[in-house]
Amino acid sequence: MLPFLGEYFGNPSSIHRVGRKARAILDDSRERVAQVWKCKASEVVFTSGATESVSQAICGTARFLKSKGRHLITSAVEHHAVLHTVEYLVNKEGFELTTLPVDAEGRVAPQNLYSAIRDDTILVSLMAANNETGAIQPVDELGAICRQRGVLFHTDAVQWFGKEPFESIHQFNADLVTICGHKFYGPKGSGALFIKSPLLPDPILFGGGHENGRRAGTENLAAIAGLVEAIERFVPSPVFDRCKLESLANRLCAMNEFDGINLVSPLAKRLANTASFTVPGIDSMTSLAALDLDGICASAGSACSAGSLNPSHVLSAMGRNDNEANSLIRFSLGRDTSEEEINNVLATFPDFVHRNRSV
Ligand code: PLP
Repeated sequence: MLPFLGEYFGNPSSIHRVGRKARAILDDSRERVAQVWKCKASEVVFTSGATESVSQAICGTARFLKSKGRHLITSAVEHHAVLHTVEYLVNKEGFELTTLPVDAEGRVAPQNLYSAIRDDTILVSLMAANNETGAIQPVDELGAICRQRGVLFHTDAVQWFGKEPFESIHQFNADLVTICGHKFYGPKGSGALFIKSPLLPDPILFGGGHENGRRAGTENLAAIAGLVEAIERFVPSPVFDRCKLESLANRLCAMNEFDGINLVSPLAKRLANTASFTVPGIDSMTSLAALDLDGICASAGSACSAGSLNPSHVLSAMGRNDNEANSLIRFSLGRDTSEEEINNVLATFPDFVHRNRSV
């Protein structure tokens, strides 16, 4: 990324030679993503991250299609980026929403999606993998149902990229796919949205004609350079190596055997790097603080809601009571996670739970 903060400082929209150089790099970046995704370069839109991609996909498509219908479908376990966006459309713009339930492992039943689609349904948004539990949705099957019923499908694939085998962007059977750079070692504040042509959602940012008129605002070339590099290096062959991570994560999952620690991540069809637990009677903040003192960086629900004591909406949707939903602890492994680090968790966390439950 460094050359794009110095040597190549031009604005891709400028006509002069410095700007043209930046434009060539931007065009090349889009081509490189299209090569990995196996789509057209014009179907790749660079954004500031997943939150923006989701807003663009959902608000832009809903507004574009509102004369055809006003019914949206999502699930109860989506990230707040999705849930708050659809809630906004319902509360402020007169859309209607069906929120699909999930089973005890956090998955949407394809049959429920099929039954929920109405004549006036214009968009379905369902995530590819859950950020709190790692549960993988049958997203291609869900997308196929939407296609069969003639309804547009958006998937928030933020947690999926760099972790699961990637063939092409079309494997989700989706018309819109959200991704985010920092989930697979790209820079924070970088993201992209796949928009299958000829769909042209309404813009959500207004101004210049950047990104082929789909996203106004001067492009962040350094972030785009970092994102593209990460997509090429870490997505086709996932950087979160299942062979290595699965055995480490499974050792964590075995904490389920301890009294007072309950595994909530599914054992099968789960992202290899994620292991989440509830510790009823000990709220997430207390556990996180104790883990931090032992040098262990864990999370509760989504990172943006760490710091709040709201019960996890994901666990509530999976049928867990408030006591459990308040006590979620998520361990997310990375490419450098070691046996020693796992040993440290196993040596300290069950002991902490044991001591604090007995007081
Ligand atoms: N969607 C999912 C599934 C996520 O996990 C996240 C972030 O953790 C987001 C959307 C929002 O990403 P960002 O905050 O980078 O915009």
